Amino acid sequence: MKTRADWQKHRATLTLQTRAYIDGAFVDAEGGATFDSINPATEALNAKIARCGPADVDKAVAAARRAFRARSLAGLEPSARKALLLRVADLMEARRHDFVLADAIDIGKPVRFAAMEFDNAVKTFRWYAEAIDKVYGETGPVGDGDLSLVVREPLGVVAAVVPWNFPMLMAAWKVAPALAAGNSVILKPAEQSPLSALLLAEVMHAAGMPAGTFNVLPGEGPEVGMPLGLHMDVDMVTFTGSTEVGKLFLQYSGRSNMKRISTECGGKSPNIVMADSDDLEAIAETAAAAIFYNQGEVCTAGSRLFVQRPIYERFLALLVEKAKAWRPGDPLDPDTLFGPMVDAAQLRTALDYAEIGRREGRILCGGERWAEAPAGYYMTPTIVADIPNEGRLAQEEVFGPVLAVIPFDTAEDALAMANDSRFGLASAIWTRDVSTALRTARRLEAGMVWVNAWDPCNITVPFGGYKQSGIGRDRALHALEKYTETKMIWIRL
Ligand code: NAD
Repeated sequence: MKTRADWQKHRATLTLQTRAYIDGAFVDAEGGATFDSINPATEALNAKIARCGPADVDKAVAAARRAFRARSLAGLEPSARKALLLRVADLMEARRHDFVLADAIDIGKPVRFAAMEFDNAVKTFRWYAEAIDKVYGETGPVGDGDLSLVVREPLGVVAAVVPWNFPMLMAAWKVAPALAAGNSVILKPAEQSPLSALLLAEVMHAAGMPAGTFNVLPGEGPEVGMPLGLHMDVDMVTFTGSTEVGKLFLQYSGRSNMKRISTECGGKSPNIVMADSDDLEAIAETAAAAIFYNQGEVCTAGSRLFVQRPIYERFLALLVEKAKAWRPGDPLDPDTLFGPMVDAAQLRTALDYAEIGRREGRILCGGERWAEAPAGYYMTPTIVADIPNEGRLAQEEVFGPVLAVIPFDTAEDALAMANDSRFGLASAIWTRDVSTALRTARRLEAGMVWVNAWDPCNITVPFGGYKQSGIGRDRALHALEKYTETKMIWIRL
């Protein structure tokens, strides 16, 4: 395993890609504008990145459409498209350290987690590559005089607008199935995390992805995301990010060409611990990881923890103990579990919510900027007990390391409070009683329910939310299908 010194040495030699990737070439933004990529652990400049705007969007959409009409990807034999995407995965893997480092310096993600997530991104490309030549169409039930076919076709030009918290994984969940289905793709990384997306462009280029079928436009939301959303020649936007911006994309679609919109948005996910549960210490450890992984900057963070009253105080004590493992540190140190927040604004938001928690409940630990940090946007892991479910800390997404703990009496009470939320992304119930587990799992208004666990999942199962956590699903064959149109062909014999 690489040491911190190894990573620092690697940083000194890594040449970062800073230009946009349009129509098979790395180019400056129109007019030469740039924005700064800042390392949130040191506040130092990583690089100046091409700041794309509406003119670059037009160029990329035109190239993507041209490539689609030429059938550069869609027209390939499925086995050839599969080989191409497998080559992308192999070349990604060959540059594993570059990708891991890029996310670590861009958003402060600890290298050990950046590596794990990167490996999942590679697996995602392989999984969809392997699916390409194994998905069949249908024939309809018709009489002797007819034959009907139901075929799936790529949509055309798909824009993937992604957030900064899992830059590579979110991109892979969208780009891999969209390309596998034969679409042209325009990836718009978040302004906080352009580096790994541009490395992906280098890999696509080296793998021989046909010009125009994959493009990367770094830049601000209103300058790149909005023109993509409003573009008359984009067929779909696949979005992951805040609920607020997800709703904007639905409006952009209505104001333009009724393009398809899929949204993976925010969450305030309930984690319910019944008093009959086994091994409270292990559950407390998982509950701490559920909120503190990635500094709480996780859409599925277990940010509302419901604990049944008979074990409430004992569980809180265990939780505070387990939170100590999430000590802030340098993201380049392989032992670090907890890095800085992505930027000053996100740190401010999380600190403000800690203050709200102080007013609404009882703060048990954290709630402050990490005083020992020589630089960077570091916060301490924060736990607030006795939060009312109708209060702001229980209802609003913090997107930071602030846990709201709520006591309850019966499973019915916990379920009612868990469902009393505008979000419905992830959820969990811990109990030894199989009926309580299954009854609750059925009635939780969430796209994902774990029983006696938090977060186990992989590419084979769908990911997404109910209510204002979004529309549509990533992962599994559900995602492959969403990047296709359904066509009926009826043949009179
Ligand atoms: P964000 O909504 O601010 O930004 C997401 C993307 O949208 C970025 O690329 C951004 O540039 C772009 N954007 C911003 N404003 C825009 C506008 N006016 N028009 C068009 N595009 C615009 O979200 P974020 O801060 O990057 O990420 C955090 C949010 O993402 C949280 O709410 C989190 O829950 C959510 N998220 C959800 C999932 C999920 O799968 N459900 C996964 C990760 C993150």
